[in-house]
Order: sequence, then structure tokens, then C-alpha cells
Amino acid sequence: MPLPHYRGRFAPSPTGDLHFGSMVAAVGSYLDAKAHGGEWIVRIEDVDITRCTQASAVSILKTLEKFGFEWDGPVVYQSQRTAIYQDYFNTLKNRGIVYGCACSRKELAENPKGIDGAPLYLGKCRQGITDGRAVRSWRLQVPDDAITFEDRIQGTQTQHLAQDVGDFVVLRADGLFAYQFAVVVDDIEQGITDIIRGADLLDSTPRQIWLYRCLDHTPPSYAHLPLAVNSHQEKLSKQTLAPSVASHDPVPMLRNVLSFLGIPINADTDSLADFWKLAISSWDIGKVYKKQKIESFL
Ligand code: GLU
Repeated sequence: MPLPHYRGRFAPSPTGDLHFGSMVAAVGSYLDAKAHGGEWIVRIEDVDITRCTQASAVSILKTLEKFGFEWDGPVVYQSQRTAIYQDYFNTLKNRGIVYGCACSRKELAENPKGIDGAPLYLGKCRQGITDGRAVRSWRLQVPDDAITFEDRIQGTQTQHLAQDVGDFVVLRADGLFAYQFAVVVDDIEQGITDIIRGADLLDSTPRQIWLYRCLDHTPPSYAHLPLAVNSHQEKLSKQTLAPSVASHDPVPMLRNVLSFLGIPINADTDSLADFWKLAISSWDIGKVYKKQKIESFL
């Protein structure tokens, strides 16, 4: 049987300009797609309209263009896809695997912490909510079983969702669909076969694989790139004051990204087009450093 056509994506949240860390995910996903002769899609993950801005989305796309990224098809915006998420949510609801939860953040704050540092959900509303309490969010039931997957960079990963996370929110108390849910619906709808992204999302992957199974779809292949962190081991982000990437001289920045990943490009060229050609032909995901975090000096 022929292999399904490769379709990758870059899915930035427009909460600020692109910085070195987001550029690592953009470059890794782009090169892996191009090296496979595949397609590469850009999706603006603005499902959380409380944190995202249109100005950041514009700035991200402009920077990608200046760096010579060429994406396939129109850019997709999560903020315009609520009806699609609602449809998929109804499927979960009709199957009786999501339930209304009345717990507030404050109530859950006392619970032990889960794998991602958020309070573990211990299943309080799983059997129904008690009288006088109102539904706030909707949670997906998770299995009392391990989920294992093979990451192309980080190797075999296993998580026990019930013990490490608990039933998780798919529809938030403020009426917005949760990241974990929207990302899976979009990846299914867009036919994404390969996800290459930062290792900060490694912990989220078993939740996403579980969602694929609940929606009767086969999960894509995953590769989690080392995350660029500062000297305090914090992810580079707007909150940690990571500088925005400057667009006026892209080649040195792209060189830095590839060296950071462990695939330095030594040839001497200032041409962006030549650089991309070299980078695509040199791309070998097997050579990417098998680490979850690397300190970035930029
Ligand atoms: N929107 C997420 C972020 O910017 C990435 C989601 C993903 O790649 O699955 O961190």
C-alpha cells in the first residue's frame, strides 16, 4: 500500500512575536515536511481569544514570509472554527464520554499536582454533579490504562492518563474550547500525518492520542524537538522576555536554529534560497539532539 502523503504543520499561538524557540518549531516542522516531499500548513492557534491578538498573528506571518517559508493552502484560524469544534464535541457528548463538571479552579487547587503542574482531576463530577451545583466545564473521561507512543526524537513515551492528569477539560468554563481538543480536531480535519513541535508539548501528547481514539481516528506520528530555554531553564516566551526574531537578516538566525538542533550547516552562503536547499538536503531527524531542553544563548 502506498504511504499516505506527508502533511505537516506549524501551529503558533499569536500571543506575541516569533522568538528563537518558536522559530525552532517552525524550522523543524518545515524541514521535515520538505525533506519528505510533503505539504506544510500554517495554523494560527487563536482558540483562546483572551490571550491572542490579531497584531501578533500578522507579525508571525510576516516574519515567516521574510524567512522564506512557503506554506500550502490558506492560513487557518482557530477562532473561525467554533462550529467545527462544536460538531466534534457533540460526537463525544452523544457517546457519553464527556461530562459536565461543577468544580472551580479554586476547589481543584487543593488536589495533588499532575504531570504538567496543573491540579490532578480526581473524578469528583464523573458520576454526576450534586444538587445545587451548576456545570462549568466539560471533561473527557480518560482510561485507567497506560498510553504509549514512539516519538521520532525522544523515543518511547508512556503516560497513565488517570494517574498523571485525570479527566481533562475539552470545553472550558468561559465557553471556549480547550487547546487539547481544538488542536486534535484541527489536525484530524486538516489531514495532518506528522507533528513536529517543541518538547513542552510532550506531556500533552497522550491526552491528544486519547482524543484521536475517542473520535475514531488514527493518531499522527510525533516528534518533539528540544525546547529552547533560558538560563533559568524556562521556556523562551513573551513572559520570560525572549527577544523577537529580527527579519532583516534571516540566514544567520536559521544557521543558529540548525546548530541548536544538532544539524549545523557549514557551507558558506548568504542566499536564503540556497540556505533552504542545503538545509532540506541535510535534514536528518535522527541527528537532532535527543534532549527535552537545551539552553539557548540568543
Ligand atoms: N499552539 C501551540 C503553541 O504555540 C502549539 C500547538 C502544537 O504544535 O500542537 O505552543
